[in-house]
Amino acid sequence: MANPLDKIKPRVRGLKAYTLKPDRGAVKLNQNENPWGVPDAVRAETLRRMEGRQWARYPDFVPVSLHEKLAAFAGRRADGVVAGNGSNELIQATLMVTVGEGSRVLISEPTFALYRQVATILGGEVLSVPLDDALGFDVEALVETIERDEPDVVILCSPNNPTGCRIEDEELERLLKQTSGIIVIDEAYFEFSGRTVAPLLERHTNLAVFRTFSKAMGLAALRVGYLLAAPELAREVSKAVLPYNLNAFSQTAAEVAVELYEAELRPTVERIVAERERLFTELQNIKGLAPVRSRANFMVVRSKIEPRRVYEELLGRFGVLIRDVSGYPMLKDYFRVSVGTPDENDQLLRGLRDIFEEEGID
Ligand code: PMP
Repeated sequence: MANPLDKIKPRVRGLKAYTLKPDRGAVKLNQNENPWGVPDAVRAETLRRMEGRQWARYPDFVPVSLHEKLAAFAGRRADGVVAGNGSNELIQATLMVTVGEGSRVLISEPTFALYRQVATILGGEVLSVPLDDALGFDVEALVETIERDEPDVVILCSPNNPTGCRIEDEELERLLKQTSGIIVIDEAYFEFSGRTVAPLLERHTNLAVFRTFSKAMGLAALRVGYLLAAPELAREVSKAVLPYNLNAFSQTAAEVAVELYEAELRPTVERIVAERERLFTELQNIKGLAPVRSRANFMVVRSKIEPRRVYEELLGRFGVLIRDVSGYPMLKDYFRVSVGTPDENDQLLRGLRDIFEEEGID
């Protein structure tokens, strides 16, 4: 009997699936979501607009009204915006239109695992430059690799998941000038860094920026992301996006969230950033832990106790769910925590103090 799996691309058979342990904890600090939830005003206005809409009719073929609102929000033109079913869909669509057998994709690891996964499935060769010893971008090594290997696509996450480092505009401009390929910057967490590379789109038609509604915008359940690029590039990526990719509910909620961002969501971002700094200081004061400064709503923490055990004890004894990132390159001794509400962060800190004090680390 023929084995149907013989028909699967060998490079796919060789991949480990991208998965997440389905554990649940009362305090959920494992996925970098907005811990304040979606503001009541956003929820109420979304429901009100959906009440008035016909659910039996297709959503917009292209979500033009959302594109227009996002363009205004990002200071761009609407024909340079593509909204997707989560930014994951746009990562996939961008790679689909750029990567095939023999293409080279440059990433900097450790980073979000999906880039390597999708590039590999599509036939690309993944080139990986490690972060530097301080877990920041090694710009010199990136420039050298671009010069030597001429990658077709470069994908960098800024602020980077899971380390929280950011690439500065001058550094990115060096890469943009060096490459003949396309550079994608994943800004899933840009709201927490107070910075964006979007203004560089004006001068660089080989740049694309991804963003998401799953983090600061508080809409992870509804799956909305968007891409900003020169209109010519946006048009090509759109060809790989399925028709009606955005359902009417998600589109409506995203429009309301953008409309109410300043009044309702930005204050939660400010609270999260303040908590990030408090959490960093408190973690530094726990013997056996060394947090890494982050520009996002999470941070990695070096731990003298094995990360897997910290994960299990926090969950089992304190109901606090964090992310064990010890399987990532360079992060053997690290776990990652999302920044929660003050109360959630206190619960995390209480748990960690207990675990590390019991261990008697000095
Ligand atoms: N990019 C990065 C860097 C992320 O961390 C995540 C979420 N984990 C995503 C993209 C995916 O976002 P979305 O929910 O919009 O697909």
